[in-house]
Amino acid sequence: MSRLILLIAIAAAIYLLVRFYRNRKPQQDKIISEEMVCCAHCGLHLPKSESTHAYGKFFCDAEHRDAYRK
Ligand SMILES: [Zn+2]
Repeated sequence: MSRLILLIAIAAAIYLLVRFYRNRKPQQDKIISEEMVCCAHCGLHLPKSESTHAYGKFFCDAEHRDAYRK
């Protein structure tokens, strides 16, 4: 009887693991597919969501945005 419970527990653990990894995949794809932009001042490549946009160009931070204007 305890063998049966052990088998059910292992099956449940495998099922939960498979479900966990299936749910994780779309998030990883999202990170990989995020558009990368280049800082117009220093040339650093960074994700678009982390960049600053001004004067029709992308910058890695506010400091480089201000430096570009000068
Ligand atoms: Zn920069």
